[in-house]
Amino acid sequence: MDIPYSKQDINFRDRFVVWRALKSKWLTQGPAVPEFEEALATRVKARYGVAVNSATSALHVALIALGVQKGDRVWTSPVTFAATANAALYCGAEVEFIDIDESHFGICVTALRRKLEDARGENLLPKVVIPVHLAGQPCDMRTIRELGNEFGFRILEDASHALGSSFEGSPTGSCQFSDITVFSFHPVKMITTGEGGMAVTNDKLLADKMKLLRSHGITREPSSFKLQNSANWYYEQHVLGFNYRMTDFQARLGLNQLKRLTKFVTRRNMAASYYNQLGFGSKIQMPMVRQDRTSSFHLFIISVPSGRDALANELSRNGIQVSLHYIPIYRHPFYSESEKYNPSDFPNSESFYKSALSIPLFTSISRKQLRRVRNTCVEVLEKLDQAEQRT
Ligand SMILES: *Cc1c(COP(=O)(O)O)cnc(C)c1O
Repeated sequence: MDIPYSKQDINFRDRFVVWRALKSKWLTQGPAVPEFEEALATRVKARYGVAVNSATSALHVALIALGVQKGDRVWTSPVTFAATANAALYCGAEVEFIDIDESHFGICVTALRRKLEDARGENLLPKVVIPVHLAGQPCDMRTIRELGNEFGFRILEDASHALGSSFEGSPTGSCQFSDITVFSFHPVKMITTGEGGMAVTNDKLLADKMKLLRSHGITREPSSFKLQNSANWYYEQHVLGFNYRMTDFQARLGLNQLKRLTKFVTRRNMAASYYNQLGFGSKIQMPMVRQDRTSSFHLFIISVPSGRDALANELSRNGIQVSLHYIPIYRHPFYSESEKYNPSDFPNSESFYKSALSIPLFTSISRKQLRRVRNTCVEVLEKLDQAEQRT
């Protein structure tokens, strides 16, 4: 039996609540969406939640709400899914990258400070910085917040991987160190709604802006009307928005999934500690979680400085699916063709790209499967080593 690198967890009750929602009066824009927003915001200790049809849409409306416009600069780390940077380009902004920290693969705060100091002199400071909590481990949020205060940028956390993690005891999403946090509910992420995402914030103005943007920029709230009209069918468009709405049956699934979040995070952490307990030998470096934070372990990224691609091929041949999260964004032709980015500016991202590999980790992975992954890794690398010594 093949072992996937990731897999959603759908139970009988998940199927039941979707079935029931499909029999109800509402398919979209019913009572489930606000219920899900409230439940998730409460869970992560934020005031407001804005549910949308993907994390990509959430990033887009969040950036607009934060005031990002044509010509503004948005900074993020290059080791992320393309959507993080694409969302900034949708707004007409310039995207610039900061190298990753070699220990947690999120934005490196030393590199960030250096670039901020250079940018200040030339009046090229960013409007928004997007820390990406890669694999589920939060970035150095306290330092990023301090830099934000010093240099005057806003902070948007891309926590697509990190629902259920925490930093200094605060749940990711509490926005203690940021303006907005975004989560993804794609099937491989921590909880799923099929496609879906949510932006959470403590700022009512930002929440209201994002709600307006997700539904065509149209409001039906009489207290916010700009023109006089007391008819009950009346509505107004105030800004150029989108159709980024989440459906009610997705929100029902999300609500039911959210009930199992603690279990999901625990299981993933248990699987990760079992990998660590087994040990992968000296040729493989294991991911480390810093003392002051917890990881949701959305991914288990090992580092294989020598023989990574041979290992990846052999694992696939043995029915073990692996993946690479992620190719640094500046290496995609769409980004590299602009010749704006120089890979040598990002030494840690480059060495990550040469050595990283995501091995299977999901809520229902068994100890037997974990042992099979580990044993295959160790055996393959031993064989490669012997072959090398013969030549
Ligand atoms: C999955 C992901 C996204 C996009 O999420 P969607 O819900 O698929 O749009 C954005 N950023 C990161 C880091 C992701 O992993």
